[in-house]
Amino acid sequence: MTTSTVNGLALTPGVSSDLKVISLALPSLGQNDVQIRVLEAGICGTDREIIHGQFGYPPAGESDLVLGHEALGQVTALGSQVHGLAVGDLVTATVRRACTCPNCLAGESDYCTLMEFTERGIRGAQGFWTDAYVENADFVIKVPDSLRKVGVMIEPASVVEKAWRVALAVQQRFPVWEPTTALVFGAGPIGILQAMLLRQNGMEVTVVARRPAAEAPATRVLEMIGARYVSNREVDIRTLGKSMPNIDVIIEASGDSGNVLLGMELLGNAGVLVLLSNTGGSEEIKVPMDRINVNFVGGNKTMVGSVNSSVADFQAAVRDMQVWEKQWPGALEQMITHRIAGLAAATDLMETTKGAIKAVIHIGGDVPTA
Ligand SMILES: [Zn+2]
Repeated sequence: MTTSTVNGLALTPGVSSDLKVISLALPSLGQNDVQIRVLEAGICGTDREIIHGQFGYPPAGESDLVLGHEALGQVTALGSQVHGLAVGDLVTATVRRACTCPNCLAGESDYCTLMEFTERGIRGAQGFWTDAYVENADFVIKVPDSLRKVGVMIEPASVVEKAWRVALAVQQRFPVWEPTTALVFGAGPIGILQAMLLRQNGMEVTVVARRPAAEAPATRVLEMIGARYVSNREVDIRTLGKSMPNIDVIIEASGDSGNVLLGMELLGNAGVLVLLSNTGGSEEIKVPMDRINVNFVGGNKTMVGSVNSSVADFQAAVRDMQVWEKQWPGALEQMITHRIAGLAAATDLMETTKGAIKAVIHIGGDVPTA
């Protein structure tokens, strides 16, 4: 097979934050590999942080990092040992690649302890903002055609699936735990997808974010799924939280560490607070620790961090997104507020996708007309 080249949208970490289209070689197809044409790729907060220079580095020996770790693609070629996939199948892929720590070696790099993993489009591995890529079949997840329009969001959905898996794991210690009330901080894709999963599990869900309710694109999506949007600029959340029934679940996905403290204060008895934000700052807050501590002890409360997701979480996301499509038709698609046609048009995405819930780059697929 001859070496072919593809385009990728990249930057040179540590040198320039300007996005540029580069040409890169498509790796040859090994016997356990899948060659994938990218149809659509998502833009998320992590990509913006890399563009801001907060982190991210290219593969060893290279200067440019192709960004992107959320993508829906189509299989174009298969290695001889790959089973269960066919050319033309819709697929997506996980983000992390194992290091040598025990959890990575056990196949759960999302529980890495050494932090020496690589991540597609983030740390030491080229990402999915490209025409095509080659991936080991172990990291490729088949996507049903029914998720063609929203499958680009399977990666963020897998992150909320892991958060819920972690919450259920730590709550298993109770003989009975029947959560009914949930609070979510953050109305970005993670906050909204988490709200969907909590609604699917029968909870009353309140989502808190900054933007006034009338201006927030999340308001309409949350209405569609029967969740409530509240702006912390319009409502005092501490007062609101104290007026709610025992808050069983709090998910912090706002990126504001002030909400971590608020979550610790508002969490109900036998409740679980899951931290999902990558807070890159150096915020210092005065904390009423005696009161929080005594309530955590007396109420058997848990605060737990969760990051990334496993193949099983991707499979759970594929399963549940099909449920959400049936339960709330059009709600997932409503989250895609910004669309860019082609990699070249995405070089100024920091300007053109401001205020988006989810922005998507259409690479190999047609851009749907509204
Ligand atoms: Zn590891």
